[in-house]
Amino acid sequence: MRALTERAWAKLNLSLDVLDRRPDGYHDMRMVMQTVSLCDEVRLEALDAGGIRLKTSFSYLPADRRNLAWRAAELFFSELSKPPGGLAISIQKRIPVGAGLAGGSADAAAVLRGLNTLLGAGKTLAELERLGGRLGSDVPYCVAGGTRLATGRGEILEDLPPLPPCGVVICKPAFSIRTPELFGRVDQRQGNIRPDTDGIVSALEEGSLGGVARRMYNVFEEVLPARCAEIGLLRKRLVDEGALGAVMTGTGSAVFGLFPDPEAARRAAEKLGKSCRECFAARPVARFPETLP
Ligand code: ATP
Repeated sequence: MRALTERAWAKLNLSLDVLDRRPDGYHDMRMVMQTVSLCDEVRLEALDAGGIRLKTSFSYLPADRRNLAWRAAELFFSELSKPPGGLAISIQKRIPVGAGLAGGSADAAAVLRGLNTLLGAGKTLAELERLGGRLGSDVPYCVAGGTRLATGRGEILEDLPPLPPCGVVICKPAFSIRTPELFGRVDQRQGNIRPDTDGIVSALEEGSLGGVARRMYNVFEEVLPARCAEIGLLRKRLVDEGALGAVMTGTGSAVFGLFPDPEAARRAAEKLGKSCRECFAARPVARFPETLP
């Protein structure tokens, strides 16, 4: 095989809690993560020579070592006794950038999975997750996705029962939020409201979509700068359109809602899409390799 295409699925945080700041500067996190069908497509082609070449369909994204997908390929090659002379990476982007949807991490994870198959390297998913941890906190989760509890920096992963079938609507406001700004604000916060992560895990065990949806919570929403008021408005609009619950994902600025079924989500996305340019209907995606093609 000389070429293949991997899907890179967006991730959502069904809950997000920031625990303590650690001596290494990172924060300990506790998050319930979910992959969804909104995805980039990452095409890999092994070449005899020429080093790594990369292009993406979003012209403003870096197409060199600054791109996480490039660094993933470089890291994977450094693990091989005989790396190929060249690799062409072509990314069809659909996941909004700077949205808290882990688009860059998903692309990097797709490169790790894809190169493993393309080059017959025979690494296990756990080995790819460990490699991913050297690229970024969300990359290990993005290797296999699904419904998982992530702790530590996000790299300690535990399988959870799958999110019951449902529809998802994701809305990304025109602005993005700087991740370091939000971590700084969360360190200063006065209150101590925490997501009911254990309650979400119990609801997943019971197969209760409503139980998950009404407990969704992201501590970063408590400390949003005033200029981000649209996030709260979008959350309300999603609920008005029939979402069982809605919340911001990661450090934003995307907000998503869970709907009883894909058809209800499609209808809501059509309405919300009239005022929010980046609005997507999606479905939950199971943990790889159970993921259907
Ligand atoms: P997270 O949820 O992990 O914080 P995010 O959705 O907020 O992710 P991304 O869209 O993954 O953020 O990427 C944000 C930054 O990463 C951008 O400034 C972008 O230039 C850089 N980047 C590097 N590689 C990629 C890539 N393959 N796709 C998207 N962004 C990338």
